[in-house]
Amino acid sequence: MATFKAIVIEKAEKGTTAALADFDEANLMEGDVTVAVEYSTVNYKDGLAVTGKAPVVRRFPMIAGIDFAGTVESSSHADWKAGDKVILNGWGCGETHLGAYGAKARVKGDWLVRLPASMSTREAMAIGTAGYTAMLAVMALERHGLTPAQGPVAVTGAAGGVGSVAIALLAKRGFAVHAVTGRTGEAGYLKGLGATEIVDRKDLAGPPKPLAKERWAGAVDAVGSATLANLLSMTRYGGAVAACGLAGGMDLPGSVAPFILRGVCLYGIDSVMCPLERRKEAWKRLETELDRPKLAEMTREIALSGVPEAAASILAGQVRGRIVVKIR
Ligand code: NDP
Repeated sequence: MATFKAIVIEKAEKGTTAALADFDEANLMEGDVTVAVEYSTVNYKDGLAVTGKAPVVRRFPMIAGIDFAGTVESSSHADWKAGDKVILNGWGCGETHLGAYGAKARVKGDWLVRLPASMSTREAMAIGTAGYTAMLAVMALERHGLTPAQGPVAVTGAAGGVGSVAIALLAKRGFAVHAVTGRTGEAGYLKGLGATEIVDRKDLAGPPKPLAKERWAGAVDAVGSATLANLLSMTRYGGAVAACGLAGGMDLPGSVAPFILRGVCLYGIDSVMCPLERRKEAWKRLETELDRPKLAEMTREIALSGVPEAAASILAGQVRGRIVVKIR
């Protein structure tokens, strides 16, 4: 029996358990590409899955982990051959399909994106799903027509993974970036990434007015709930908000006033089922537009055995930037 180490989630009498265990290779699921996984990450959704705080996992036993980078070991898919370097984000991995926190993954070749030539598998996972989602959000704002000349943009959940990468990307494109954070003590870190102003997240936590003073031309929101409703009410005429997260809650306690009186647009960002062509564009742009020294500054590395602790920390809002997980 060939086994490998993995973070395995099992159903328990009450909820679920997650532990480092030996997983039998014979139990990998269907797929036309087998990948030797080198790095994964800890995203917010991984936190929910590993702690069992939300019903992310819908198949047991499950290998957790929603994203990985690694090397193709074998393939019957026309696009991939042994030795190719690949990235996977989402598609239900770690939810309905065995995921990334194990030395091997078997997946559909249609789910994979080629690792950009100048990027290591570690750098790809330092970016991870959080960073790729930040790029999808920036792309949505650009499709809207947002330019730096229209005014500053806000990034909520600023010191987290999506927030950190979004700040770096927007600053690089010349935007004045206002970092909305509960950790104002991280001002030095956030300014180092390119933020021009630090906003206390309490400013966006109160009961939202239908319309408030116009502050930002656009925003990337990782928080949801009252924060998103307040952002919409503070968005300038004709501006746009790209919503990708729920770190503050899943509700949206606002009004339609920003949409019908200021022509504000709300864009939904989904990384999991995002079409392949848009993923390829996002990763291509991440290769050139995300400064590697900034990426290094926001990243720390843990071993597979450290995942359960990191999962609890990310849900507690204690993780700064990104965590990469060294798998092998
Ligand atoms: P992180 O935990 O790294 O970042 C979330 C940040 O949100 C925290 O660092 C904190 O920032 C802020 N925050 C946390 N709790 C609260 C709260 N109660 N009220 C207000 N702000 C809060 O997570 P990620 O960056 O990995 O993910 C961010 C969100 O985006 C998550 O909800 C995640 O599920 C979602 N996501 C969605 C994707 C999609 O496809 N749509 C893909 C990837 C992520 P600070 O301390 O600076 O205030």
